Amino acid sequence: MARANGIKTDHIYQVNESKQSDRISANVSGLFGTMRIALNDNLLNQSTPVEVKAVMAHEIGHYAMGQIYEMLLYFAIIFMFGFLFVHWTFAGLLKRYGEGWQIRDIGDIAGWPVFMLLFGIYMFLMTPVLNGIVRSHEVKADQFAINLTHQPDAWATIAMKTSTYRKVNPGYWEEVIFYDHPSPRSRVWMAMNWKAAMQPVLDGQLSE
Ligand SMILES: [Zn+2]
Repeated sequence: MARANGIKTDHIYQVNESKQSDRISANVSGLFGTMRIALNDNLLNQSTPVEVKAVMAHEIGHYAMGQIYEMLLYFAIIFMFGFLFVHWTFAGLLKRYGEGWQIRDIGDIAGWPVFMLLFGIYMFLMTPVLNGIVRSHEVKADQFAINLTHQPDAWATIAMKTSTYRKVNPGYWEEVIFYDHPSPRSRVWMAMNWKAAMQPVLDGQLSE
């Protein structure tokens, strides 16, 4: 699967996660020549080979679709607005309290705690946006995985196995605001929709 999608197979690693937790997980990271996919040992120990294949295909999707670069761009834009937010709110606070706090300007190191507080508030307010961006990438990688493997059932069962640390069936807004991955329910739903829509193709009705 990796070779079919232009990925060198020497960039795939196993992580010893079981020392620290029993979560099943995998990820892709790195840039340019250093990009690699890591599967943790919990995944390899707790899943069927077909489920591991489905997860592998999902990670290949992140990698093959170049989502890391897209993410860097999004984060650069979000941070830029964050600095603008701090710039404006810092100036407002300084006008009112600057003398009492003995802070000269935004370049004064004494203002660092205020700077970090304001940036923290901004990042907190941006939580749904950040989660939405990450989640949209996850949905694309899910689709990529099922398209590559034609294993919607394995994708559904491995999604349910993440229920040890991820709530299966959150409310609509709960998922929109707080989830950086689709909920297991959404993933099973997507996999089953794929299966229903693709059934004629899988049955060979549309082949030559
Ligand atoms: Zn992912």
